[in-house]
Amino acid sequence: MDFNVDPALVSFRTTVQDFLRNELPRDLANLPRSISSERSETADWQRLLTAHGWGAPYWPVNRGGTGWSVEQQIIFDEECAAAGTPTLDNFAHKLLGPVLNHFATDDQRAEHVGPTLAGERFWCQGFSEPGSGSDLASLRTRAQRDGDFYVVNGQKIWTSYAHRADWIFLLVRTSQSEKKQLGISFLLADMKTPGITVRPIMSIDGRHHLNEVFFDNVRVPAANLIGREGEGWSITKYLLNNEHASTAELPMLQVFLRRMQNLAVEIQLDGKALVEHPEFALRLSRFETEMKAVSMMVQRTAALHGQESPIAHAMGSMLKLRGTDLQQRMSAFIVEMLGDYGAVFYPCPHEGPATSLPLQELAAGAASEMFLRRASTIYGGTNEVQRGIIAKALYGF
Ligand SMILES: Cc1cc2nc3c(=O)[nH]c(=O)nc-3n(C[C@H](O)[C@H](O)[C@H](O)COP(=O)(O)OP(=O)(O)OC[C@H]3O[C@@H](n4cnc5c(N)ncnc54)[C@H](O)[C@@H]3O)c2cc1C
Repeated sequence: MDFNVDPALVSFRTTVQDFLRNELPRDLANLPRSISSERSETADWQRLLTAHGWGAPYWPVNRGGTGWSVEQQIIFDEECAAAGTPTLDNFAHKLLGPVLNHFATDDQRAEHVGPTLAGERFWCQGFSEPGSGSDLASLRTRAQRDGDFYVVNGQKIWTSYAHRADWIFLLVRTSQSEKKQLGISFLLADMKTPGITVRPIMSIDGRHHLNEVFFDNVRVPAANLIGREGEGWSITKYLLNNEHASTAELPMLQVFLRRMQNLAVEIQLDGKALVEHPEFALRLSRFETEMKAVSMMVQRTAALHGQESPIAHAMGSMLKLRGTDLQQRMSAFIVEMLGDYGAVFYPCPHEGPATSLPLQELAAGAASEMFLRRASTIYGGTNEVQRGIIAKALYGF
């Protein structure tokens, strides 16, 4: 890994900054950043990027993407987070996208890529089921072939944003083979298909992003099968590799750090800004150092991208452990910095109650964000499971 900053990357960062400064409309800038923006904001942002030729920032050129290197993608994400743009539909871009690019037929790509990059088709991920989360291969949702259709019956759970998604990519059991992994297939389904019911799950952060999704004799065209029947497990491994690498959520950590740095100046304690208290300054600088370390791990993961080695295999999991640990501690520290105001529970920045508290603006969403981050060590593969992956990759057990 080369620690010198590549001048081409410096110039790329300037290009992204210029674009954001000149093209990002006010109503799409400085938005509160969390896991996902409002659908309408994401759709507008997607359209703007597509019009600029950056509609698929993580995909190769031959699939309609920008062809950016992993380093460029990281810079793009960082600058978007700094500008407070809406988030993209990452289920489409970072999870399904690589699968479509690698395993789908030309017809399937033609059907889905256009509407997705036009901000008209949103996706959700239907993998987990009650009793089948970490042990995903034990999933029981069945898909039985009936002529040109699969008839799907079963239930998914923890399906983020299913209530606003147009389509779902899901894993189904198409055969009861001896090895449970071999009986799994990867399907795409239109959420408007009769027999699909979405039921909300309210989470501890006070918001609705999670759902249960029920499939009751849902007829899905067999043409929506990705890859071959029974190939779903290999496709999933390919997809999850991408998921683990991005769960450190470095741009989000950078948002947390900037928030801390602002609060450190804004909040007064005993007649002095927080940052002037040595004890506090020490804690803040520790976070800054830890952030730097995670940022370098991200660079290292990028440098190892595509390599076949134990460390390359373990890196995504290591990043997830460090990143999520930091997310939880930083979001809790922000609440602590806010003192009494931090205890006021504003569900999210623009839903807070109207009050005249001087720190209302600064406190908005802080407690909610802290609660939300409790889930970061669960989604994308729990941290215990990540430790297992690291042990297996590096020590062989
Ligand atoms: C906020 C949030 C959003 C999510 N969004 C989605 C989504 O959009 N789509 C989707 O499909 N799923 C989603 N999930 C589900 C998520 O992937 C699962 O919750 C996760 O994989 C864990 O599965 P589980 O909940 O069944 O827990 P379990 O697998 O039952 O785990 C329970 C406990 O046992 C531990 N454990 C299990 N197996 C092992 C092992 N082998 N070694 C050591 N410890 C182990 C776990 O670490 C955990 O502490 C989401 C979850 C959350 C919290």
